[in-house]
Amino acid sequence: MKTYVDAFLTYGIDHQIITDFDRAKQSLYQLYHLPLGDYEKTTKPIDEVLAYLLDAAYQLKLFHPNTVLERDAYEAYLFDLMMPEPSKVKQTFKRLSDTDKEKAFSYLYQLSKDVNYIKTKRIAQNIHFNYNSPYGNIELTINLSKPEKDPKDIAKALEETIDDKKGPKCVLCKENEQNYQNARMNLRIVPLELASRKWHFQYSPYLYFNEHSIILSDTHKPMHINKTTFKALFDFIDFMPSYFVGSNADLPIVGGSILNHDHYQSGRYHFPIEHAKVIKTYHDIERVTISHLYWPLSTIRLASNDRYQLEELAAHILSSWKTYEHKHLEIIPFTTKPHQTITPIARYKNNTYELDLILRNNRTTKAYPDGIFHPHQEHHHIKKENIGLIEATGLAILPGRLKEELAHAYLYLKEDKIHPSLQKHILWLNQLKDQKIISHKEDLYQEVGKIFTHVLEDAGVFKLDDSGLLACDTFIQDTIKAYKKM
Ligand SMILES: [Zn+2]
Repeated sequence: MKTYVDAFLTYGIDHQIITDFDRAKQSLYQLYHLPLGDYEKTTKPIDEVLAYLLDAAYQLKLFHPNTVLERDAYEAYLFDLMMPEPSKVKQTFKRLSDTDKEKAFSYLYQLSKDVNYIKTKRIAQNIHFNYNSPYGNIELTINLSKPEKDPKDIAKALEETIDDKKGPKCVLCKENEQNYQNARMNLRIVPLELASRKWHFQYSPYLYFNEHSIILSDTHKPMHINKTTFKALFDFIDFMPSYFVGSNADLPIVGGSILNHDHYQSGRYHFPIEHAKVIKTYHDIERVTISHLYWPLSTIRLASNDRYQLEELAAHILSSWKTYEHKHLEIIPFTTKPHQTITPIARYKNNTYELDLILRNNRTTKAYPDGIFHPHQEHHHIKKENIGLIEATGLAILPGRLKEELAHAYLYLKEDKIHPSLQKHILWLNQLKDQKIISHKEDLYQEVGKIFTHVLEDAGVFKLDDSGLLACDTFIQDTIKAYKKM
């Protein structure tokens, strides 16, 4: 036992996680009922050390049940015993960012990885591939990193009485920092001021792209896209120009999975949409370039070195989109509720601010109960979840079930072996069979890319056909005219 506790401490020293060695050693020795002897430098692979320490903790009845979720929570607790306190991390981030922002962000990133808050090893299991679509390269990920809830976890949650008024209201709340719930004892967040309001920055535990991070509102309040959003996004870009930042839309169906806590996503990443071709450029406003992108989701790109002009213009486009109607194209802004909003993404490129505004509509009908501009039913076997910011910009996050299902699908195409999980794919697979286009497994992945591209097309409000292009052009021109009159 002592060997493993010492190996854990050695890892902490080697990765410069430990701020107070005596405190860390004492806590860990006590936890594992070790006599307070001398620490001996011991090196072992960290995964082996953690597995041993978690098994031992379970034997000592320090947590239950023995599920991935509960093991994660206890592992976070073990790291918290040796890592710097939240206030220390905030001080260090502030001190570093005063002189070098890159250093400050890389400090928090490295710390989050070293204490396993970012689940690097699980993320490595994800499957990545590319598809060369008519809109350019589309990136796809089959997400195998997030553990699914064990029935034992669900049973445990039922046993617990919910009487925790001080605790976090959702997984994004700042109260999650150093909280045992949701395995966040090892979470450290840093404050930011954006658009004169308080926000907090943290890295995402399941990075979907490089340095995937989340900026959360200080208070638990619903997502809301307005002029202040654009201001906040540019404030962040000014603070950290090498990261992009964007927000999910603020309506169900077209938004992300969390609508009740205002937040943005950021990272050091270039999504496929960045390289989209341009259909038409408008130069009617001084020092601003407006472009309609050749992209399946209707996207207007604003570019300028004057961020304030972009904030004004974006707010104007948002408000005119909110009331825009084109019945023939099924674009109807209100029924009993408003349906139109925007997914905005900001970046700084070649000394220019860029702001992509993706036009969204979440209306449902009898024919499209999940949403007219949402993955259509015939594509649900591949993707039925919301098309949020990440996917709208060309990076598909596909459900983990697809790994197995595609393996079975390939066997079906090659050897006619049918598996029960193929039921939902059968129409598609029989089409592929008829077309005789699958000779390698890679071909099947390409067909998945094709379907995902159709999913993105489903989500586009102005289709890229004659009537869609004409309507979008008119919308942009009318909006510019009205803006110039203001
Ligand atoms: Zn919250």
